[in-house]
Amino acid sequence: MPPAETRREELKAVWKQAQACTKCPQLAATRTTVVFGAGNADADLMFVGEAPGANEDKQGLPFVGQAGRLLDTLLEEIGLARSDVFIANTLLCRPPGNRDPLPGEIDNCRHWLYRKLELIEPRVICTLGNFSTKLLRADPGTGITRLHGREEIRRIGPRTVRLYPLYHPAAALYTPSMLETLRADFSRIPDLLALPAPTQPASHPADLVGGHRPAGTGQQPAPQQPAAAELVVPEPEVAADDTEAPEPESAQLGLF
Ligand code: URA
Repeated sequence: MPPAETRREELKAVWKQAQACTKCPQLAATRTTVVFGAGNADADLMFVGEAPGANEDKQGLPFVGQAGRLLDTLLEEIGLARSDVFIANTLLCRPPGNRDPLPGEIDNCRHWLYRKLELIEPRVICTLGNFSTKLLRADPGTGITRLHGREEIRRIGPRTVRLYPLYHPAAALYTPSMLETLRADFSRIPDLLALPAPTQPASHPADLVGGHRPAGTGQQPAPQQPAAAELVVPEPEVAADDTEAPEPESAQLGLF
């Protein structure tokens, strides 16, 4: 496992590359900024929302509007702050008029999310709402209403994580019963973080620098390019506690 500082430096390099992404020509033409994600580059806990909205697009940071304030409150209630976690979205760019992300856009953006997982190495990923839940579970047929609050161990691109779907805070803002459910689901996050880290697929230094796994070097029968998302059987291992204090030094305020 590369040291946290090496991974953080690489994350900054990926952040720079992402600023120039034009894979979705419409989004690249209409965005103000690329919203890469922000928080602790060595976070055990990562949140994945849907896509930047107008405020996020202006500021270049995820969840800075009303839904973000609710997310802050919910984090605070379980003893965490934004600086303890990493917050990202399925899309880096705001869909014009806040329309839903298109399947092609989600596909185009997936590799940025996988790079973040690879470099941040979260143990628990909370998906917020339907889009990220369906993407990370690779199951477009099962929605958040059935899945929220039920953790499972999943291989997501380069990482095996505890995946924990939650309602989207924006949906909970206006529906008190949903807010109570979200709060109850949130209250279980500390217990999930205390569980042993899931066993990882074999890792290679080449994955970190180039993003490509050389053929025939895996210790376990994993495909060379990781499957989009697959359910894996939990296999406890000793948890490594290598969390470090965040250092706000990147160009966007406190990005990582
Ligand atoms: N909603 C999201 O899904 N993501 C954001 O960054 C903001 C609002």
